[in-house]
Amino acid sequence: MTRKILEIAYDEYENIDELPNEEEIETIEAAEDALKNNGHSPYSGFNVRAAVRTKTGKIFIGKNYENAAYGSTICAERAAILEASNHGHINDINIVAITGKSDECDSTEPIDACGSCRQVLVEAEQISGEEITIIAACTNGKIRRIVGMDNYLPFNFGPKHLGMV
Ligand SMILES: [Zn+2]
Repeated sequence: MTRKILEIAYDEYENIDELPNEEEIETIEAAEDALKNNGHSPYSGFNVRAAVRTKTGKIFIGKNYENAAYGSTICAERAAILEASNHGHINDINIVAITGKSDECDSTEPIDACGSCRQVLVEAEQISGEEITIIAACTNGKIRRIVGMDNYLPFNFGPKHLGMV
């Protein structure tokens, strides 16, 4: 038996102005702007917004959309990726920014994608052939920046395993 230790690389920032480039700042600002608009999260009271940026600078927004049958709820991240895909941009996504807030309290921890959304992001990254940068933020705290889905969903399964890319 050989035990191995996996290290995951990520950066933390105190505010969005510290992010390393204008494209990432613009993407998280788009997600924050979308948080000002109505969503549909009457059951959890937790509002999430995601902004997906393509290599050509187009930004697509997604909101979490809850359902009385809870399992039918759609996350903001997947809604944004589907919006990008609907516009022909599933193969050139390079930045995904996530933010959110609760009706009850401000989160001081970055809002991260759930496992299902990370799996969808793996698909998008492998199709594009380049690492996706994740910006996870919240309205009242630090920002986490993760480059590459191997850091966000280690030991992932994707199109490459099926010989698709
Ligand atoms: Zn999700």
